[in-house]
Amino acid sequence: METGSEQRRYFEHLDAIDPLRDMRALFDVRDDRIFFNGNSLGPPPRQTWHRLHEGLRQWRDEMNAAWWDRQWLQLPTLTGDRIGGLLGAAPGQVVVGESTSVNLFKLLCGAVELQFDGGRRPVILTDLDNFPSDLYIADGVTRYVHREATVRRVPTEEITEHIGTDVAVVMLSHVDYRTAQLLPMQRINERAHAAGALVLWDLSHSAGVVPLDLDGAGTDLAVGCGYKYLNGGPGAPGYMYVAQRLLPRFEQPATGWLGHMRPFDFTPGYLPDPGIARLTTGCPPLLSLLALDEGVALTAQADPAAVRAKSVALGTEFIELAGTRLARYGVEVTGPADSAQRGSHVSLRSDSAERLAKGLADRGFHLELRPPDLLRFGLAPLYIRHVDVFDCVAAMEELLAEESADTVRDGSRP
Ligand SMILES: *Cc1c(COP(=O)(O)O)cnc(C)c1O
Repeated sequence: METGSEQRRYFEHLDAIDPLRDMRALFDVRDDRIFFNGNSLGPPPRQTWHRLHEGLRQWRDEMNAAWWDRQWLQLPTLTGDRIGGLLGAAPGQVVVGESTSVNLFKLLCGAVELQFDGGRRPVILTDLDNFPSDLYIADGVTRYVHREATVRRVPTEEITEHIGTDVAVVMLSHVDYRTAQLLPMQRINERAHAAGALVLWDLSHSAGVVPLDLDGAGTDLAVGCGYKYLNGGPGAPGYMYVAQRLLPRFEQPATGWLGHMRPFDFTPGYLPDPGIARLTTGCPPLLSLLALDEGVALTAQADPAAVRAKSVALGTEFIELAGTRLARYGVEVTGPADSAQRGSHVSLRSDSAERLAKGLADRGFHLELRPPDLLRFGLAPLYIRHVDVFDCVAAMEELLAEESADTVRDGSRP
């Protein structure tokens, strides 16, 4: 039988031959803490320190002139195109906007407007397990903007059966935020298009870790988050994708001056920009945008096939180790066993979830607790190592073994 340290050496070996092994050094990560939170907040790239310093200097020295001279005004579309490179989107279809929730609001309003057809297509179709903010936003669209529209929530596995001729838009997360279930984008797009519906994808848990080909998959609309696997920093703005074929007809309700065709003419009437900038509203959060641009630039350095291969390997290792070392303590892996249907995080269910999260944090392993009993581990392939997975599961095993020894001792007391 392999001893723990022999097995650990095998994981060290995997790191030594990892084609992405040099990427970790590009992040400013501490060696005494392992953050399995990349699906929630990625760490700072080293280059971001310099980029923000430079931005501050330009602010001080150049003031408003930097909006033009440093292309700050164009940054939402320039960074958008960079993100487009990660999404399989040709230039001119992606722009950085507000938070993902607000971006979703804009695109959902626009999609219903485009599809409403005098009331013949009033339905926003989504799944019950979607991220709560996405569900709240859809409700907000029907309460405050399109009052004749309705939201229909169905179980994820029944989604395609519900795509009927009354559906304006299908709104789905590409990867489920809890279970990591990865949905077949192209198949759902095709099914929706056959019924005359559009699909709006939330890419928050897939962009940067799951290879994407939005143009090739015939995707209509998408939004996604800047601070998770794109490493854009806390509160980084999110982005919007509108397929070129829809763009000339696509409208959104927050018609502010920077979405105008000629903002600096200061005319009283609104005319949308002919391109993707029509989705923007006001001044972009410039400093956050600089950090996002660096995070995206770093993410784009890695070969997407290598990123996916390592993500799948880390997930499979985690699940196998959890099966052999933790199952006897009642810890269950949730979500798909088949890596082809899994994103880049793994969730474990345990009655001791809260104690485990605390014990792991004391040992330098950070993850997310989703009460009451879910532990979520983001496996970001650019900086998480194979040995980190091994060490984390070993630490959980120790914690659980201590806990069960305590229970036995307590139970034997009179
Ligand atoms: C993280 C995440 C968001 C983030 O929303 P914000 O408005 O940027 O806070 C939205 N949707 C999903 C599915 C997410 O995972």
